Amino acid sequence: MIGNDNHYCKKKPDKNLSGFQCLCCGECCRWPGIVRVSEPECDAIAAYLEMELQAFLQKYTKIAPDRRGLILIDQKDGACVFLQKNNRCHIYSVRPRKCRTFPYEWDVPLEMQKRCAGRCKMREDIKKEAQEKAEGSVQGFFNDNIF
Ligand code: SF4
Ligand code: SF4
Repeated sequence: MIGNDNHYCKKKPDKNLSGFQCLCCGECCRWPGIVRVSEPECDAIAAYLEMELQAFLQKYTKIAPDRRGLILIDQKDGACVFLQKNNRCHIYSVRPRKCRTFPYEWDVPLEMQKRCAGRCKMREDIKKEAQEKAEGSVQGFFNDNIF
């Protein structure tokens, strides 16, 4: 399940990630860690699932390891309980803040960054753009100086 608290410590959103697009690979929902849920988030998710709050809390949450609040439970394989087989989040429109702010407000270790399809695509696009710019400048130089 999506990173642990140590990966969630940026004070300001990362401007370099302003063009980030999630490609719904589901990797961050499988990473070892916890997803804290606040009281209002529990209310919103329970309402979205059309469940009584108590029933939702019992079925989908447990006490955090540090006993400060609640976290979502995992599936048997360690993925978040709400990650579906198609890699989509079952509660996407009401997902907790921790999920909504990923990866903008996270310090994600490199090894994990490489597993995020959205970040990998973004890196490739930036590289391609820089390459095209460089090729354009070389072409411009020849056009200006040779012909
Ligand atoms: S709540 Fe949704 S977005 Fe958050 S970890 Fe679970 S499946 Fe992923
Ligand atoms: S790892 Fe990245 S691309 Fe994959 S679901 Fe998470 S944010 Fe989206």
